[in-house]
Amino acid sequence: MKDLSIVIPLFNEEESLPELKAWIDRVLGDRSFEVIFVDDGSRDASWDIIKQLAADDTSRVVGIRLARNYGKSAGLQLGFRAAKGKVVITMDADLQDSPEEIPELERKIIEDGFDLVSGWKKKRHDPLSKTIPTRLYNAVTRWVSGIELHDFNCGLKAYRFEVVKAIEVQGEMHRYIPILAKAAGFDRIGEQVVQHQARKYGSSKFGIERFINGFLDLMTIGFMSRFSRKPMHFFGLLGVLMFLSSFSGFSWIAVGKLISILEGNPSKNITEISAFYVSLTGMVFGLQFFLAGFLAEMTTRNDTKRHNYQVSDNIN
Ligand code: UDP
Ligand code: MG
Repeated sequence: MKDLSIVIPLFNEEESLPELKAWIDRVLGDRSFEVIFVDDGSRDASWDIIKQLAADDTSRVVGIRLARNYGKSAGLQLGFRAAKGKVVITMDADLQDSPEEIPELERKIIEDGFDLVSGWKKKRHDPLSKTIPTRLYNAVTRWVSGIELHDFNCGLKAYRFEVVKAIEVQGEMHRYIPILAKAAGFDRIGEQVVQHQARKYGSSKFGIERFINGFLDLMTIGFMSRFSRKPMHFFGLLGVLMFLSSFSGFSWIAVGKLISILEGNPSKNITEISAFYVSLTGMVFGLQFFLAGFLAEMTTRNDTKRHNYQVSDNIN
């Protein structure tokens, strides 16, 4: 086992790679570490450069090449599977994250006992169109997750080995790894202010759609981390509330009508009362929520990973 694994997902970053590798070497010297480059389907010379770096430093460079561009999450996931270090560091390939931060990140994991330490780009070198939505996004994520981080999506992070083996970074969930870690039982999550550089070569691989997708993913992850093992508790509650309130409304109208018929008073037709339609649709929707709950339960019961509980200690 090595002391450190540096996982670097990359897409078309040919200019930065040699500089980045040299910088990491300079910082870590003769420590025991590996650098895992995950080439996410680059169309430039990135892979050739990685092959060259691996040839120059066989024992410390690992290269993984994806057959097409799957996205940063896929790169991280593959890197996590391959990592053999006691502490796993992730960083972007574009030289925006500084390897100088690695020793302190590692220290926080080993000595301070954190499971995960996230970088915080307190002073960012990005355009305003990115920094303002980012603030909003971080505030919402803090609120939904209950995790006090300022910069969830910082590419520079450090993890305890067990954490990266326990989580699965699916879809575009790389923005929410601290939430995944917390959901897997690793809640000692810390933060470190890190230096951030402006992009030196190439351009950002994410556009404005990152914010919309980011919020949609946040809703998914908020739901999944709470209810993925018991979806009926979510849909059932909605269904019960909706059905019961609509049913009482419906009964109220029906009983009122019955009384006026018995007393011989003239009264409106039920179909002329708008609340009747509201109650009716409410009842239908309530039942739909129930059905959705049952279907969701049936799917989760077939999930082969349904007994993947994170055990933190064992005796014998
Ligand atoms: N990246 C990747 N696959 C993608 C998009 C990005 O592996 O489909 C890598 C990219 O090469 C970089 C990191 O993810 O190493 C962060 O991307 P970028 O710098 O474009 O994001 P930004 O700094 O603008 O948030
Ligand atoms: Mg970048």
